[in-house]
Amino acid sequence: MNNLVIIGASGHGKVIADIAEKVGYTDIVFLDDNPAVESCGSYKVVGGCKEALSYKSADFIVAIGNAKIRRKIQSQLVEAGLHIVSLVHPAAVIATNVKIGIGTVVMAGAVINPYTEIGQGCIINTCSSVDHDCQIGDYVHISVGAHVAGTVTIKENTWVGAGATISNNIEIVKDCMIGAGAVVVKNIEESSTQIGIPARKLGNGQLVGGSHL
Ligand code: UDP
Repeated sequence: MNNLVIIGASGHGKVIADIAEKVGYTDIVFLDDNPAVESCGSYKVVGGCKEALSYKSADFIVAIGNAKIRRKIQSQLVEAGLHIVSLVHPAAVIATNVKIGIGTVVMAGAVINPYTEIGQGCIINTCSSVDHDCQIGDYVHISVGAHVAGTVTIKENTWVGAGATISNNIEIVKDCMIGAGAVVVKNIEESSTQIGIPARKLGNGQLVGGSHL
């Protein structure tokens, strides 16, 4: 398991490369469709995403923040029979009886507590926490410093912003954006943008700044 191909050579990719190095990958390269991007940190960009098939024996991970693009590319890799991994920083704390899907990354300082299930292609970002018995859907992003209390369900693609808090026993539907620092104390039943304390739907529920959805 020495060769890792990371798709998407941005800041998020740099963090993933650092985790990969710490868990033992010695041969790390990037693929990126922007020809102007030649490197990511100390690693080389060796081609566009279409070149994935030239690395059949490598492990793969997608490092693109936008959930829809991350899903699309990860699905293409799976269809092509390539091997997607999940990566967990050695300084993350993962309880026993936690399930983590392929393509998910768990950053430094994150805590995931018992009987929680994290789907595929998720980002559990730096110093965030997901407590006991949670169900986190595919391609969800729990941003830096966000906290999810016990027995919370968050459906696919939803983005929980930096420093947000989700109170216990809450259910959040798919395709939501929870603003930075928001505190969610009621179920969210409509795909929407929610901001503030307590969190409330923004405007008519339109998604704004939705590059990550
Ligand atoms: N990227 C890509 N193919 C795509 C979409 C994005 O190679 O279909 C690359 C993009 O060129 C960029 C990186 O992925 O270098 C990260 O994407 P972006 O800047 O959109 O957002 P971030 O992941 O930093 O949020």
